[in-house]
Amino acid sequence: MNQTVDVAVIGAGPSGAVVSALLRRHGYRVCVLEKQHFPRFVIGESLLPHCMEMLEEAGMARAVAATPGFQYKNGAAFTWGERYTCFEFTDKFTPGPGTTFQVQRAVFDKVLIDEAAKQGVDVRFGHGVTAFDHSGEQARLTVQPETGEAYTLQAAFVLDASGYGRVLPCLLDLETPSSLPPRQAVFTHIDDHIVGNEFDRNKILISTHPKLRDVWFWLIPFSNGRASIGVVGEPARLQREGLVGDEAVLKQFVSEVPMLARILTNAVWDNGVPFRSLSNYSANVKALHGRHFALLGNAAEFLDPVFSSGVTIALHSAKLAAALLHRQLSGEVVDWQSEFAVPLMVGVNAFRTYVSGWYDGSFQDVIYSCSEQVNPDIRRMISAILAGYSWDESNPFVTKSTRRLQALAEICGAATPTAV
Ligand code: FAD
Repeated sequence: MNQTVDVAVIGAGPSGAVVSALLRRHGYRVCVLEKQHFPRFVIGESLLPHCMEMLEEAGMARAVAATPGFQYKNGAAFTWGERYTCFEFTDKFTPGPGTTFQVQRAVFDKVLIDEAAKQGVDVRFGHGVTAFDHSGEQARLTVQPETGEAYTLQAAFVLDASGYGRVLPCLLDLETPSSLPPRQAVFTHIDDHIVGNEFDRNKILISTHPKLRDVWFWLIPFSNGRASIGVVGEPARLQREGLVGDEAVLKQFVSEVPMLARILTNAVWDNGVPFRSLSNYSANVKALHGRHFALLGNAAEFLDPVFSSGVTIALHSAKLAAALLHRQLSGEVVDWQSEFAVPLMVGVNAFRTYVSGWYDGSFQDVIYSCSEQVNPDIRRMISAILAGYSWDESNPFVTKSTRRLQALAEICGAATPTAV
């Protein structure tokens, strides 16, 4: 086992797999340390089209497209009461792919890391990182395999792609609270048996609760008749007298959404898949990089699942980091703040505006009340962001997101009743 590499990556999720393949393609010795064994369950099944650009660059797009069970996706649909509207991602402001997939993450993540291994990345499953020393000329990671002695891995640079594990933020005391309030998600997989023709299987369906506008649902279909379904809200919203356990909460809340109740009337819920819940998943850090390291994907900041931006941000961070690290390892002097953190935050901050606007109601007003009437150019700019192109600085809804959303919401809000 080689104990000195050019780059060590902590975590084999999407950001770890993509960054390791991109660096391997430049010829570096890259080692990925993953504490679990794949396939393993993780939530986050709806991709955005911008992801396809990074998968293509990493040589993984063909393998993803060839995997059975992934559902073709061309947009996002929204429902509130009897309202329904949708965005076609092929009709968008920013050039680039307009379609993608909804994926079972256990399978998807395994496909990506297997592709990285085929390209020559040294992937070590069952190897957890427990300590990090960046005081010397090289970074030193302490690695604890499931069996046997802990060992030290030396690397010129470490990329932390450990997701919710947040290895370096914890070890280096970089964690800072998210600006978003704590929320809870309760979810499962069902045999959907969707009835009628009002549901478009090629789109994620996001539903707003009829009375509680800050409570919302995802319905993410797969191609095999199954679907991921979940409800999200502040814990106090989801706690009701008489509702005990994740199963009771999810079933009750879903039954209160008119469209979900109609289309899922024949769904089979009790098919052996556990009902799960996650709380307090939004997270932030004081710095995205430091001596001999940078943070990728969820190990850095995680906003909120509402626009399915998690994997897209993870892959975009992987692409930026790989390009910059290649220049650094080639002998150039680079600046991780202005060339990694600042450009990454352009897209994260744009998403943040629309996430905040979703919960304060302003972006929901735009979506439900007037998104079909607005100027088609503006609609295409919003569609581009929902498709993941939130780093396109020629889109004013990216660069002036707060002002643009506010102006549009003022026009739309007047037309929006408070409940349907
Ligand atoms: P991960 O996929 O979390 O991978 C990190 C890996 O690091 C894991 O395999 C872990 O085992 C490993 N690891 C952790 N600690 C260590 C250690 N000490 N040593 C070695 N390895 C370690 N995103 C979307 O794009 N679409 C969605 O529809 C979506 N829905 C979501 C719904 C909910 C309720 C939530 C909470 C999130 C959702 N997300 C979604 C976000 C998505 O889950 C994440 O953004 C995405 O998984 C981040 O990928 P990653 O590569 O950063 O980390």
